[in-house]
Amino acid sequence: MARVGEAAKAAHRDPTSVDLIVVSKTFASDRIAPILAAGHRSFGENRVQEAQGKWPDLKAAYPDTQLHLIGPLQSNKAADAVTLFDVIHTVDRPKIAAALAREMARQQRSPALFVQVNTGEEPQKAGVMPADTVAFVETCRREHALAPVGLMCIPPVDEEASIHFAFLAELAERCGLSALSMGMSADFETAISFGATHVRVGSAVFGAR
Ligand SMILES: *Cc1c(COP(=O)(O)O)cnc(C)c1O
Repeated sequence: MARVGEAAKAAHRDPTSVDLIVVSKTFASDRIAPILAAGHRSFGENRVQEAQGKWPDLKAAYPDTQLHLIGPLQSNKAADAVTLFDVIHTVDRPKIAAALAREMARQQRSPALFVQVNTGEEPQKAGVMPADTVAFVETCRREHALAPVGLMCIPPVDEEASIHFAFLAELAERCGLSALSMGMSADFETAISFGATHVRVGSAVFGAR
């Protein structure tokens, strides 16, 4: 939190404009509970099934928790994702947008949605291609009546992350979106200097996985 605050100040930003998402994947409830007890309420998981094993009880104990899905979503898991998560960062194709819209209507729940962009155009990575991002956001809005709040990216490991952060910020502006989910343990301070509103930090909090 101190490092987030310092990075925000250095960027002349309000520290409260950055949401620190503590990424608790692979860690059991007994490692997460002390962080909840200390007052933190924003957490991220990358697998629906793993989250289902630990978060219903933790959320019952701390109902104001915001749980973020930061890993790839399959459409057959859309119902479970809408039930458990408060924010979904990985909307990246029409089939997922349709499945989420259907489940959100059925369950009368509206998790906030980010569109994931594959800024490095890596074949093995999820996310919409940069050139398709504006059109995909429009499809979400027009065809599925969804209102994404922002864009998310995971830069290639072997490239300068700041180029990808700047690019994502520019794409978001073209889409008329204000939230930016970018930055992990190694580079969240840089991401904040490029406008990140949500940083996803695991190992810098918990230690190595
Ligand atoms: C695991 C993960 C993180 C956190 O990574 P750290 O390097 O441990 O901070 C952030 N974003 C996504 C999408 C992840 O899967």
